[in-house]
Amino acid sequence: MAPAEKHTPFFNLIDALKTGRCPVCARISLRLNQFFDTLLYQNVNNRGFRADLRANGGFCAHHAHDLAGWKDGLAVAIMHLEFLEAASRNGGVPKRPDASRTRGRSTVSGGTGGSKAPACPACRIVDSEADTTLDLILQYGEDDEFLASFRESVGLCLPHYALLLEKNRRPAAGIVARQKEFLDALIQQTRDFIDSENVTAKVRPELSREQRLVWKRLIAHYYGDRDAIPL
Ligand SMILES: [Zn+2]
Ligand SMILES: [Zn+2]
Repeated sequence: MAPAEKHTPFFNLIDALKTGRCPVCARISLRLNQFFDTLLYQNVNNRGFRADLRANGGFCAHHAHDLAGWKDGLAVAIMHLEFLEAASRNGGVPKRPDASRTRGRSTVSGGTGGSKAPACPACRIVDSEADTTLDLILQYGEDDEFLASFRESVGLCLPHYALLLEKNRRPAAGIVARQKEFLDALIQQTRDFIDSENVTAKVRPELSREQRLVWKRLIAHYYGDRDAIPL
């Protein structure tokens, strides 16, 4: 394969692989931070953004709590007063395009297909960043520099690996191999941890502090980041 020309997105991907997290989760988390940062400092009164938010009746519950985490009380109040009022006019029930959807997600795959379907603005960022990053991973799957970094990384979390396979059932062999290697190691580390906690066992493995934290790694790998995975 002819080497693809490398630009900023490629180097951003390499950086994401060095975070010790799933690179897609890492990219999404960076983009969500930028989104909330820009929102709170520039866009609270942006008419386009507010119309967009209004179309969905607010954020999904998940990203609303992310927003609250920025502790900009006035911005939260300004953005939400109209939603509280609309709910009051509606007999105490929020006016949302589909109140049964906790995440306000567009039904269009990827959320970026030019659909005007209302959705949580932050969820749309999650969708589009996952899409872009997975495409990049597929594009550079055979690239030596990418593969060297991928082999050193924790690989993709399982939900993002599943999404990658949805896009391409046969990704580069180096990607498949790293995914399997990391998962197998995680299974072994999880077994060792359980064994080390077994007070009735005659021989209990002595684990380092890092090894004892396998439960955190397995949560991250099996579920992906809290904010980065479609529900
Ligand atoms: Zn992930
Ligand atoms: Zn959302």
